[in-house]
Amino acid sequence: MRIHNLHIYNTLTRKTEKFVPLHANLVGMYVCGPTVYNNAHLGNARTFISFDVVFRYLQHLGYKVRYVRNITDAGHLESDADEGEDKISKKAKLEQLEPMEIVQRYTVDFHGVMRAFNALPPSIEPTATGHIIEQIEMTKQILDNGFAYESNGSVYFDVEKFAKDYNYTVLTGRNLEDLLNGTRELGGQDEKRGRLDFALWIKAKPEHIMRWKSPWGEGFPGWHLECSAMSRKYLGEQFDIHGGGMDLAPTHHTNEIAQNVSCSQNNTPVRYWMHTNMLTVNGQKMSKSLGNSFLPHELFSGSHALLDKGYSPMTVRFFMLQAHYRSTLDFSNDALQAAEKGFIRLMSAMKILPTLKTADKSTVSIADLEAKIYAALDDDFNTPIALSYVFEGVRIINSVNDAKESLSTDDKIKLQELMQQIVHDVLGLQQEETANTDKIDGLMQMILDVRTEAKSRKDFSTSDLIRDRLKEIGFEIKDGKEGSTYSILK
Ligand SMILES: [Zn+2]
Repeated sequence: MRIHNLHIYNTLTRKTEKFVPLHANLVGMYVCGPTVYNNAHLGNARTFISFDVVFRYLQHLGYKVRYVRNITDAGHLESDADEGEDKISKKAKLEQLEPMEIVQRYTVDFHGVMRAFNALPPSIEPTATGHIIEQIEMTKQILDNGFAYESNGSVYFDVEKFAKDYNYTVLTGRNLEDLLNGTRELGGQDEKRGRLDFALWIKAKPEHIMRWKSPWGEGFPGWHLECSAMSRKYLGEQFDIHGGGMDLAPTHHTNEIAQNVSCSQNNTPVRYWMHTNMLTVNGQKMSKSLGNSFLPHELFSGSHALLDKGYSPMTVRFFMLQAHYRSTLDFSNDALQAAEKGFIRLMSAMKILPTLKTADKSTVSIADLEAKIYAALDDDFNTPIALSYVFEGVRIINSVNDAKESLSTDDKIKLQELMQQIVHDVLGLQQEETANTDKIDGLMQMILDVRTEAKSRKDFSTSDLIRDRLKEIGFEIKDGKEGSTYSILK
């Protein structure tokens, strides 16, 4: 275990606090995953990349981390006020598909985007539909404890009752009266008793396709319930970290806490709440209605009116890490182009590093650099500051390469380890050619096989043509006793 001094900004206390896990060496972390009814969007990608760094850094420090990130495949209605259609059912009807076909399509899309960004898969990725029994059980328990009521086949959480015993707005610190006054008044037709009450179980209307049997009739779980049921199942009644986008704090996470507390009577089901900030485009909030939101694959290919060109997934990841996860992240062509240059500079320095000549003495302190990088990461995962010191490493590498500074053998090894661990393991940035190099290699092997085959048929005009054409593109073929090999001409 690495000695560290990790501090995390806790939304719950609105303070940066020293991180002390509940159980030594083990960390339980839950992050609200995507609702899989359309393509993964960039705001989600940023949240999951931020928590990927948290996951990676905790593991790097030596913790065994159980990282749970759910897939919402049922129960997420169009409005937070338990109104509108289920997002997945609506899309399924629109496209004349089974809801599970929608779920499958967009789960695959989401995983593809996460892989492109080199985000590690979570330890457990549970789905809402896979945990209906747990959600029914939890609803029963909340009813038994007196914090919910049944109304016409649906079950609602009684916020007023809960607020008598506990602090309902503990996460955001909002005033309950203000919150009440800001919420729409109930009409005569409402099944809810109180304005802030929310559904644990919703009676399915006749046309609703995704439905399950329950003690209250056929229906489906409320969206907030799945995260409470699944985090409790896999991480216990109290666990270390819960994360998500900051837009989730006022309703979804506030209700999650209320559900968990009303079940277990444990006041603090989650010890550290972490929230990522929003995305902006040229200083404006990114939103579909403003027409300025683009999808990850549009960003990769540059196929959006606002983008001058495409950017590789690693460039985008690097770009995202240049802002702290609690700050807004502004997309602009200028900033993306600057990130692309920075990323290329970083990766070329990483390539030069193993080839550096060493000297008797170092003119720079690698121990100092190491301490600064860890201090930044320990300070609430401050990736922009950590990256600025990584670039101090880049400067050292280039200066040693230009013989302006020198490194001892020990320091060179230390710098190599440090850069590898921070850049690759913790920040999750990797050379992008690797995948392509493998593909080029496979392709070249195939061409060489075709050429050998032509030669064996004494078809020398074809074999020469292949050799000459490859040379024009920049590949040199060498014929040896063991067969032909190729090299890429600089
Ligand atoms: Zn959630």
